[in-house]
Amino acid sequence: MTDSGAFLEHLSAVLAGIEAEGLTKRERAIEGPQGGWVAMEGRRMLNLCANNYLGLADDPRLIAAARAAMESHGFGMASVRFICGTGDLHLALEARLAGFLGTQDAILFAACFDANGAVFEPLLGAEDAVVSDSLNHASIIDGIRLSKARRFRYANGDMADLEAQLKAARDGGARFVMVATDGVFSMDGTFAPLAEIRALADRYGALLMVDDCHATGFVGPQGRGTPARAGVRADILTGTLGKALGGALGGYIAGPQPVIDLLRQRARPYLFSNALPPMVVAAGLAAMDIVEAADDLRAQLAANAAYWRAGLEGLGSACCPANTPSCR
Ligand SMILES: *Cc1c(COP(=O)(O)O)cnc(C)c1O
Repeated sequence: MTDSGAFLEHLSAVLAGIEAEGLTKRERAIEGPQGGWVAMEGRRMLNLCANNYLGLADDPRLIAAARAAMESHGFGMASVRFICGTGDLHLALEARLAGFLGTQDAILFAACFDANGAVFEPLLGAEDAVVSDSLNHASIIDGIRLSKARRFRYANGDMADLEAQLKAARDGGARFVMVATDGVFSMDGTFAPLAEIRALADRYGALLMVDDCHATGFVGPQGRGTPARAGVRADILTGTLGKALGGALGGYIAGPQPVIDLLRQRARPYLFSNALPPMVVAAGLAAMDIVEAADDLRAQLAANAAYWRAGLEGLGSACCPANTPSCR
């Protein structure tokens, strides 16, 4: 029989260990909307740490779209997509994302964490292999764990190591090989060298999956992301509505028709989790309207990032050398 007292004591000891290492995460409440300036602890504070790249998190156009959709489509779907949770707005946003990203189709998830958790298991089997950058987002790591594919890991951005791992995957007799990488690494804010990765993937007959959460909407021509910036094709893209595209929640996978069709049949976080609420999807459509014409916002973001990088370096604070607004 489990002794719940001993169990809770064990958890308290783990927490004390986290505290002793100085790793306890403490949450501070923002009193009002997310933004460049926020109200916190009764003060007005400058906020440099949200993923609100284009400032859309409190944009009146997104709020109006969400409000209108709540009036026209109600509050929630109370269903997974394939039973009775698919609305006209969901289909419109999927088509819109695919058009923006230049893929045949796209499929929405509750979050990009779910999209990354969903993408590998239905597409790859035990005969296949995934080659993953060591700095990839936790959700990619978890998604790969959920698939039966053999796993190979290469040191962050290290193309010699990527080639060695691709070779190992091929020597191991893999049927299909997929390289998985963040487009911009959420850990450091640096770009993945996508042109080199694509070239190596092609040389070894591998597919390329790019998670563009920290790029879609503001990196590359018209904000179409890191593959567009590098001038290469990703076979599969994942991304989020929770950062530049309004900052609420929602994720997606974009790719060729058979990929998206099979994910609709087999992706477990899609099949067994509720559809996004209409207001969030409608605001996503409004965000796409803005993002597609947002060269001014992208220029402002680049200028802001350059301003803060120069200022912090002037104060002797080491910024990462990467020229991304995600620089940590
Ligand atoms: C933020 C992030 C995610 C998770 O996205 P959510 O939609 O918040 O679940 C996944 N991958 C990367 C690289 C991210 O930065």
